[in-house]
Amino acid sequence: MTLENLGWDGRREEQFAPFRADGLEPGRVALEHTHIYRVVTPSEDVLARVAGRLRHEAASRKDFPAVGDWVALKSGSSGPTIHAVLPRTSQFLRKVAGRRAEEQVVAANVDTVFLVTGLDGDFNVRRIERYLILVWESGAQPMVVLNKADLADDLDRRIAETARVAAGTPVLVTSTKSGAGLDALSEHLEPGRTFAFLGSSGVGKSSIINRLAGHDLLKISEVRESDSRGRHTTSYRQLVVLPGGALVIDTPGMREIQLWDVDEGISEVFQDIAALAPGCRFRDCQHRTEPGCAVRAAIDAGELDAGRLENYLKLQDERRSLEARVDERALQEAKRLGKIQSKAIKRMQKDRGR
Ligand code: GDP
Ligand code: ZN
Repeated sequence: MTLENLGWDGRREEQFAPFRADGLEPGRVALEHTHIYRVVTPSEDVLARVAGRLRHEAASRKDFPAVGDWVALKSGSSGPTIHAVLPRTSQFLRKVAGRRAEEQVVAANVDTVFLVTGLDGDFNVRRIERYLILVWESGAQPMVVLNKADLADDLDRRIAETARVAAGTPVLVTSTKSGAGLDALSEHLEPGRTFAFLGSSGVGKSSIINRLAGHDLLKISEVRESDSRGRHTTSYRQLVVLPGGALVIDTPGMREIQLWDVDEGISEVFQDIAALAPGCRFRDCQHRTEPGCAVRAAIDAGELDAGRLENYLKLQDERRSLEARVDERALQEAKRLGKIQSKAIKRMQKDRGR
């Protein structure tokens, strides 16, 4: 195992130079326990704690290491410690339930995300669109996977619908039942690159990962380790190397991303505002400058914290700018759509023919 096998590259080597000069070693976080991290290095897996200084300097939970992060390790008498987290090339955030919408990183440095949707009754192109926004926002590259092709009743139309919102993003069609499309998918799994799977529960993410791994990933990623009291515990590694050398991050937090951060999330987090909105004079009230706004009235009456509305409006603005970006991208990629569509259809027909 080399650093490159784990996804290391020249840019990271550069960023790491000052730490190397101080005698620190790079490693990649494979699992996050409470307060302790399993970190993979070329020579071994270690359990490391966050150094006091990093903990003190952390402004928020986002500054703590997450699965997929590259960290600077220092060995010490009481075990290795993490002294720094290298800048992330991508990150997936999940809002931590609570008063302040604090965010936690559930996966870092993912290169490509397979956005999995089922071609069964659950198919919803609007949902794919929102997941795409989420992935573009993360810094990773999306690829759309339409799974359960064996259950699709109008495959070509679904592919065309998807290609329209995918704006040039590759669209792959798979079935873990028949095996169709899985070879085409594995062609994208370059060694040393990091992948993740995102999509609603039940769409077939585990089935696909296990087919790619050739065995049950959870079983191969199981590791036995001693905790600080010398007891043996079993844990799962959430960053695993597939037989072909590609890396896959599969964390529970990543699985729990259910478009929380896009659209449904906003009304879910701001239930108080959603509950007041029906009292506004205008049905489409934005709670900004409209007359007869029940939300602003509640703030004036001291029944609602002004910061809540501020935060809500900020999120709405963010969402709008993301949507504008998607539209822009759709426009730019419009010419490529036809090509991708017909490619996906051809691939599917080829797979069916086998
Ligand atoms: P996950 O929650 O996204 O990880 O989904 P799973 O991999 O656990 O799959 C959910 C269910 O869908 C299981 O019963 C799978 O056997 C089934 N499933 C997965 N892929 C396919 C497929 O391509 N075709 C069909 N018909 N069923 C599938
Ligand atoms: Zn209003």
